Amino acid sequence: MTLLAEDTEAADLGLRWKPGFATLGPAFLTELRPTPLPDPYWVGRSEAVARQLGLPPDWHASQATLAALTGSLRIAGTRPFSTVYSGHQFGVWAGQLGDGRAIMIGEADVGNDAGLEMQLKGAGRTPYSRGGDGRAVLRSSIREFLCSEAMHGLGIPTTRALCVTGSDARVRREELESAAVVTRVAPSFIRFGHFEHFAANQRDDELRALADYVIDRYYPACRTDGRFGGNAYAAFLEAVSERTATLLAQWQAVGFCHGVMNTDNMSILGLTIDYGPFQFLDGFDPRHICNHSDTSGRYAFNQQPNVAYWNLFCLAQALLPLIGDQDLAVSALESYKTVFPQEFEGRMRDKLGLADAAEGDRPLVEGVLKLLAAGKVDYTIFWRRLSHYMADGNAEPVRDLFPDREGFDAWMLSFSERHATVDLGQAADLMLRSNPKFVLRNHLGQQAIEASQEKDHSGVATLLALLETPFDEHPGHDAYAGFPPDWASTIEISCSS
Ligand code: AMP
Ligand code: MG
Repeated sequence: MTLLAEDTEAADLGLRWKPGFATLGPAFLTELRPTPLPDPYWVGRSEAVARQLGLPPDWHASQATLAALTGSLRIAGTRPFSTVYSGHQFGVWAGQLGDGRAIMIGEADVGNDAGLEMQLKGAGRTPYSRGGDGRAVLRSSIREFLCSEAMHGLGIPTTRALCVTGSDARVRREELESAAVVTRVAPSFIRFGHFEHFAANQRDDELRALADYVIDRYYPACRTDGRFGGNAYAAFLEAVSERTATLLAQWQAVGFCHGVMNTDNMSILGLTIDYGPFQFLDGFDPRHICNHSDTSGRYAFNQQPNVAYWNLFCLAQALLPLIGDQDLAVSALESYKTVFPQEFEGRMRDKLGLADAAEGDRPLVEGVLKLLAAGKVDYTIFWRRLSHYMADGNAEPVRDLFPDREGFDAWMLSFSERHATVDLGQAADLMLRSNPKFVLRNHLGQQAIEASQEKDHSGVATLLALLETPFDEHPGHDAYAGFPPDWASTIEISCSS
């Protein structure tokens, strides 16, 4: 299906649309139409997201929907647009960026106050494309689709993805690749960079309008909770800092490396956003760099919590004209420094099966991380095997993972002592709910991508089903929970997507 759409023709997705972000007005966005991708086909679909949107069960049955989600057909009741933002990339002010390939369809009314925004990523050039072609390749689109659903399955805040739609149209990256569109969904796609944009251009009226919009819609308590002597903008900065701290604690606990934590890739709602060269750690290496383009290791795994704070500092600077008092801004930011360690320790206690905190928990966590790093022990497999040990008492499969057996035995002794007064059944339950069996390892994504490039999309569906419920055993699928093959370490993932 190509370019047949008349202006009068429109697909009806059966959704009701709310005014949403567009009410902010033309200073924030440009209305436009997606550029059609020819002869589209389905690559992957999330029925869970479809249900969340309130789409009818047969939502994907019509050619019109497929055409609409690849830009060939207008969606009834919508006026698509792209938004403007700026940002710091790799620590340097990059000036104006904006949605260079994401086109917002609108905000679907899902019965909540907030609604759900829907975007087509890869749907063609926009006024913010700069030198880019406005497209996304199949490879990176499958990665974003699977990983956003995987993060949701892990209980980590994230943008979601309804589907990936592909086309044989070619786009040039390092080589020619096929194009695709991800239909992404989130309560809001607003980034730190949206605020930085208006602050940098000294457009205080727009800055205030944006902050008021976000506070009223997503952080209404900031108006009423009386924190910071009723300064709602300081309370807002604190709330964003807390959500970001919680998010980073979850990333660090599960072993997720984002790869491009530029301020334009930081969600104002504390969601994981803009999946690029991300990676779940295989062997535990705190200094792991997952982005092949990140030569200095700015976004290495163990740098992420500090980088998030640095990014929040940029947001604080942008909000300063509204907060009006530097000391208030600094104290709002400070919450990050208490919430991050608290949340991280809480998550690590869950992983260790400890329902309550006790003195000595920190050395227990630090001790095991040190051992894991020294042996480059597989992070996900270790925690899952430790959870099974708690259930069946067999320590050998865990012990086998460590080259330093004596070091491991010493740690196990303190671990067992800590569990002496704990209900082991409850501890095992907590651990099996906190330590996933399945994560989206690079090589698993790569295998599904290569099959999809040959038109077999079944691997995407299989992975999606496992990653949606990653704490379940899924009998018969142990191969997806095994060690990565040797070639996994040769996969190079850069910003090119
Ligand atoms: P990212 O690193 O993917 O978050 O992208 C950084 C900026 O580059 C954003 O403004 C994107 O919209 C833009 N961008 C990335 N790839 C493309 C592309 N192929 N065409 C147009 N803009 C792009
Ligand atoms: Mg981005």
